[in-house]
Amino acid sequence: MGYVMDRAGFAEVIAALLKDYRIFAPVRKKGAGRFTDVDAVIYDEIRDAGEIELELKSDYAPKEFLTPLSETLLYFTEDEVKESDFDERPVLLFGRSCDLHSLRRLDQIYLNNGPARDPFYERRRKAVRCVLIGCGHSYDNCFCVSMGSNRCDDGYVFSVDLIDDRIHSNVLDGSFIKFFSEVPGAEEKDVLPRFVTENDVKVEIPEEVPREIVRSGLWDEYTSRCINCGRCNFVCPTCTCYTMQDVFYSDNGRAGERRRVGASCMVDGYTDVAGGGQYRRKNGERMRFKVLHKISDFKKRFGYQMCVGCGRCDDICPEYISFSNIINKVNAASREVQA
Ligand code: SF4
Ligand code: SF4
Repeated sequence: MGYVMDRAGFAEVIAALLKDYRIFAPVRKKGAGRFTDVDAVIYDEIRDAGEIELELKSDYAPKEFLTPLSETLLYFTEDEVKESDFDERPVLLFGRSCDLHSLRRLDQIYLNNGPARDPFYERRRKAVRCVLIGCGHSYDNCFCVSMGSNRCDDGYVFSVDLIDDRIHSNVLDGSFIKFFSEVPGAEEKDVLPRFVTENDVKVEIPEEVPREIVRSGLWDEYTSRCINCGRCNFVCPTCTCYTMQDVFYSDNGRAGERRRVGASCMVDGYTDVAGGGQYRRKNGERMRFKVLHKISDFKKRFGYQMCVGCGRCDDICPEYISFSNIINKVNAASREVQA
């Protein structure tokens, strides 16, 4: 079932939904970007439809809700541990097609990667229903078509496309129809979310990365170009690494809280081991690990690619290092070796 309405009508839909749901969506934050006059589009809980950024690609990913950069998991005293509270209200999480595909990767790691499911991720994930933001065009650095994440035929309750200042929604979940059908002026129409079918950036991933490439000098340039800031990991919708911090309160050193905080395989300290060792000391080695994890190792284990081709890592890198370029370099070098 599809509906087309003006922005005021959509604001009514969101206002009605907010009575039952918490809504997390991309929001444009003024001056929050790289420089003070540059905006950033990040995820936040919204209070009205006007806050939702439907046109720009978000700098950060929906994992901002599912795996927050810092999350208190438990509180402890000397002899007691208490799990942190969680707001159990259902959540609507807005995202583009590549973002919805990224949730399969997060679920894989947090829920289906060994005998135990991560309960802190699971309680968030269970609360989530997705809303698809259609893509009327490809954005800078996107290569979702090469990664097969450019379209989404299910996995969302309704879609939102802003076309000529009108909202077009395909309502897939029947229980959401009431929010649209009661809006004055909403026209019932056939609506399909927009998907891109071509990106300027294309990648080819080799079936097998030969051992010679793993050990080659291809990675050396990143030892000097990369400044190991970790931004590429923090914006990536499919990066899942984290570390733990126990924080002891200053007014009672025997009580505190355990926090899960985001980690990055590109930054110093990630591979530190006892005795002062470090498995990947050079930035080029870290780049090799990251790239091969995304386009080879994850697939060997789970049968599909980890990267969804959102291009956010390219958008954010202060050194203009392009992940898609690296994939194509690895592909060309692999072919040479195999020829
Ligand atoms: S964002 Fe760029 S410079 Fe920073 S760690 Fe990633 S590749 Fe290196
Ligand atoms: S590696 Fe880069 S392009 Fe791939 S999913 Fe992560 S941020 Fe997006």
